[in-house]
Amino acid sequence: MLYKSTRSQKGPYLNSADAIKRGIAPDGGLFVPEKIPKLTEKDLRELLRADYPTRAAKILSMFLSDYAYEELLEDCEKAYSTTSFVGGRAPLVSLDKVRSVMELWHGPTAAFKDMALQIMPRLLSRALVKTNEKRTALILVATSGDTGKAALEGYRDVPGVKIMVFYPVDGVSRVQKLQMSTQLGENVNVTAIKGNFDDAQNGVKAMFGDESLAGELDGMGYFFSSANSINWGRLAPQIVYYVSAYCDLINEGRLKMGETFNVSVPTGNFGNIFAAYLAKKMGLPIDRMICASNQNNILTDFLSTGTYDRNRHFYLTMSPSMDILISSNLERLLYFVAGPSKAAEYMAALKETGKYTVEPEFMNEIRRHFVGYYADEEATAKTIKGTFDAFGYLPDTHTAVALSAAEQYLKETGDDRPLVIDSTASPFKFAKDVYKSITGKDAPSDLAALNLLSETTGKEIPYPLADLEKRAVRFTEVVGKDEMKAAVLAYLNK
Ligand SMILES: *Cc1c(COP(=O)(O)O)cnc(C)c1O
Repeated sequence: MLYKSTRSQKGPYLNSADAIKRGIAPDGGLFVPEKIPKLTEKDLRELLRADYPTRAAKILSMFLSDYAYEELLEDCEKAYSTTSFVGGRAPLVSLDKVRSVMELWHGPTAAFKDMALQIMPRLLSRALVKTNEKRTALILVATSGDTGKAALEGYRDVPGVKIMVFYPVDGVSRVQKLQMSTQLGENVNVTAIKGNFDDAQNGVKAMFGDESLAGELDGMGYFFSSANSINWGRLAPQIVYYVSAYCDLINEGRLKMGETFNVSVPTGNFGNIFAAYLAKKMGLPIDRMICASNQNNILTDFLSTGTYDRNRHFYLTMSPSMDILISSNLERLLYFVAGPSKAAEYMAALKETGKYTVEPEFMNEIRRHFVGYYADEEATAKTIKGTFDAFGYLPDTHTAVALSAAEQYLKETGDDRPLVIDSTASPFKFAKDVYKSITGKDAPSDLAALNLLSETTGKEIPYPLADLEKRAVRFTEVVGKDEMKAAVLAYLNK
């Protein structure tokens, strides 16, 4: 199976190890597989009896044909072990006959990025060997909190890579700071900068583009790599849990082989929901994919009007991981629906004018699969409380957006097929807002909110967030925003 850019008619064609190592295509496009492998009924029947790591290895082997199945199985067993995913790998929690919640947050950082970031570094590590790379990859990450922690956990002690995370010293919550500064692993570094998130991101971008720094690194036996969410190595593992959910629905007797179901996905960068689309293209009988947005409802508007327009107000919401105005992975959908030259044209227009319009024939195709709804802050808070009151189920703020979208869809259509709602974070990850939605009261701090929420709801704090204050702090360095490069060199010279 070979990979090419979303923006090119032909090649170059790369194998998957190369695509994972490079992250982004040379022409600025995203890597896509040249064709989509098909899941047969026989494949699915085998997967019904398999555990999550085996399901994952099977699906990944269909896309990453330059990796041996045994390599993938070994990596998946480590990545999705029951000691790191203590509460289960993508378990389905049934709310009623129609609704099931798929919990994607039982990994080491209590959020869904773990589903990809626990496996992707292992795929990268093998890619370095497969491409004969002798240097060590240095992953640089600028974070406003959650992605940095998930990347640290994913790359921790993976051979052939080191990771360095920069965060704004006053720009993350106390819980996030504690999570990062107590990070374990021999190949990790965490550095705070005096500046905001943009400063951190600009600093990292500048280093990625700094040729003399690249030369200096090369001399020391290193090269830069990114943990970017558009990397194919992060996208492919997300296809797995949709297949897994289908197997679970069949095993639970809620579906028969071949019957269709729907999914509702809290969407930001369009990665998670695009993985559902790929699962469908492989032959998984998903009918509707509900694209759930928060107040930043650019995708809802796109699906209803055909125009994607980022010239609009940017809202800071209680579901911050969905506060996004450029949904990068949408480019992959546009490629599959409209082809590479149209995808390139839309992306050029987006860069130039901040918007593009997709022709009706292509929108009709997109609307055969996707339907968009959004929840503003009030609807999100109401959904948290409503879901807890009605089902005893406590959703986080992002999950609540997907639940609200699902409700709107069900009300409009009366569709009574099984509906899987993606839950992308533990409610304790966003404890302050969840606590307020349930009780109407403000917790004194985000750390205090953990215990208050647990006491109020009787739910247990998941292990990644428990006892944070008791862990040993390992990283205390704070540098100026102009000193990031020096910090990188100091770390590598240590
Ligand atoms: C990243 C993230 C999302 C959005 O997922 P995309 O793949 O970017 O659409 C939703 N919820 C949480 C908690 C996230 O961390």
